[in-house]
Amino acid sequence: MIGSAFPQLNARDSLQLVSPLPQISTCSAAQLREQVARFYAGKFSNIPSSICLAPGRINLIGEHVDYNSGVVLPFAIDLHSAVAVGLNSTSLIRVSSQLDGVVHELSAAPDAGRWPGWLRYLQGTLKLWSQRTERPPFGFDLAVTSTLPMGAGLSSSASLCVAILSALQTAATGRASLPQVEQPPTWEQAQLCQQVEHQFANVPCGLMDQLVVLAGQRNHLLAIDFHEMTLEPIPWPGSDLSCLLIHTGVQHDLATSEYGLRRATCESAARKLGALSLRSVTLENLLAASSALTDLEFKRARHVVSEIERTMQATANCRAGQAEQLGRLMDESHVSLRDDYEVSCMELDYLVEQVRQLPGVLGARMTGGGFGGSMIALLPTQSLSLSLLEKLLATYESRFGLNPRWLLCQPSSGSIELNSGD
Ligand code: ADP
Ligand code: MG
Repeated sequence: MIGSAFPQLNARDSLQLVSPLPQISTCSAAQLREQVARFYAGKFSNIPSSICLAPGRINLIGEHVDYNSGVVLPFAIDLHSAVAVGLNSTSLIRVSSQLDGVVHELSAAPDAGRWPGWLRYLQGTLKLWSQRTERPPFGFDLAVTSTLPMGAGLSSSASLCVAILSALQTAATGRASLPQVEQPPTWEQAQLCQQVEHQFANVPCGLMDQLVVLAGQRNHLLAIDFHEMTLEPIPWPGSDLSCLLIHTGVQHDLATSEYGLRRATCESAARKLGALSLRSVTLENLLAASSALTDLEFKRARHVVSEIERTMQATANCRAGQAEQLGRLMDESHVSLRDDYEVSCMELDYLVEQVRQLPGVLGARMTGGGFGGSMIALLPTQSLSLSLLEKLLATYESRFGLNPRWLLCQPSSGSIELNSGD
């Protein structure tokens, strides 16, 4: 049922809806491109030579399994980081993000000290990319704008690194006096951006976010198998289906949270089970060998092993268009993340529980690393009742004193480069 005060919903058109609800604001790639070009011009009194957009992502299912050689099923969303770039004739980098609007002037050699705040992502990407390409430092101007909420579990950091990497690549390619740089393959680019997180942001993340940000496809999920190292686009299970995304308003902080501990516990469980990773462990193996593990290792491993099975099943369900089964797997995934992996929080649990009761909802779960961030629900687009959602969010707001924001999503495409003539 549609709330009577609102027109019928289509996932993409809903972005244009005039709704009293606190939606995550978004805009088209063309609008974002104009916005970042304007921002760049305002800061550097010039026009950029190229603009690179990289999306955020939602993980439909397969949480905390990428670093266990598992399988995941994420998709890129219509929220982006936008990076505009142009060479300057100095040996300095001038850079600004709409986040604070400050123009930072930095040495083009990224070795000089630790760059503060968000600049660490630029420093890391620039340093690792320069090492890989053996490129001498060169001066450039770079501006960043974004429609992605940060710390919302939608991978704004991976999106930022991928957009910066593409921008550096195009900036260098555009300069005739510099040797041309061949674009490295997707896995290599993703690994470079992952190393930025590890070495410069202190987040020991897996590789899922970077891969889907780079290689997501419109109307498709991306099945990633970290053991086989394969990427396979899987058609979205129904054009009438959408993912309702709600950001709890709780910003996660994976670097200081328990993310690293989870990873270490999985590795020690695998070692005790004589496995290279938890990917090669079945539920039967795990139960049979449970006495070799501490209770905590057993619980963590049970999440990983069962989540990998659920994700494989979910991939088969998507192929067969079996949305109801998919929804049930999402429900089970949330319970496992909440009880065995213990990465949920009361705000996520509350929203998952409440949204699960909305008409048409087939399944709901937290998405992303957890400890805050966002939840998702799968439902037929037309069944979303905006009036019920409004009531639910108002109750949440008064109960937790937080400002939740929502968006209806379907899979969008991965990172794109726009030359100034596009
Ligand atoms: P998530 O990736 O889930 O959004 P993280 O904590 O991993 O959360 O990354 C958020 C950080 O990424 C921000 O604190 C900021 O440093 C950086 N970041 C992301 N987008 C931008 C942007 N548009 N401008 C500046 N910094 C950004
Ligand atoms: Mg991140």
